[in-house]
Amino acid sequence: MELRFEGVAFDLDHTLLVDNRLERVALLDLIVRIDAAGAPMRISLDRAGIVADDELSRYRNEGEALDTMLERFVKRCGGREGASWSSWFRQRCLDLTAQFVLPMPGAQRSLTALERAGLKIAALSNGPSPLQERKAAQIGFFYPVLASEQIGVRKPDPAAFERLSESMGIAPKRLVYVGDDPLLDIGGALEAGLSAIWFDGGSKPYPAEIPAPSAVIRSLDELLSLCSAAAV
Ligand SMILES: [Mg+2]
Repeated sequence: MELRFEGVAFDLDHTLLVDNRLERVALLDLIVRIDAAGAPMRISLDRAGIVADDELSRYRNEGEALDTMLERFVKRCGGREGASWSSWFRQRCLDLTAQFVLPMPGAQRSLTALERAGLKIAALSNGPSPLQERKAAQIGFFYPVLASEQIGVRKPDPAAFERLSESMGIAPKRLVYVGDDPLLDIGGALEAGLSAIWFDGGSKPYPAEIPAPSAVIRSLDELLSLCSAAAV
């Protein structure tokens, strides 16, 4: 029996796992650390949290370099410019994964079932490397992870999905991508010729202006029957 797909690839955040905003915690911890190191930061952590949310959203949406975001964040919180906090911040995020990252219900069960059915598995994620790989490992995802910082291209650029397809050695039409973000995950995958399954987390309706997904799931346990059904 020929399977409908040869491989299934995943978005990480809010699809296979949640990280409980660990980068936000690391940013606030940075303010505490600078203050304790003798450079008083005259800002409350509540206020710094508002700045952190704004900076993280800019960093994620515009795909800028981590150092640029960190410098601006420290400056907006009243700190001195000039220092690079990049290595400290990256390490702090890695250290927080064990406490903050949780698997989505059914993630491990579904991955095991898909692998047993003979499907190849990988992840494609917008985000820093090696943080995305560490988050994946934290939930027991030991398949290949392509992080945007490492491959130099971000979703929804179809080139990111082309890299995924090449690295898995599977033609786009035999590969299905699963993600929670209609624009980044579904729009991008469809444009690159993959099938795309929308993981409806229940927080927002699917936008009318984005092409409809190939299928919709509300639980990862629904994947096996969708991905392993015989080709028609
Ligand atoms: Mg996501």
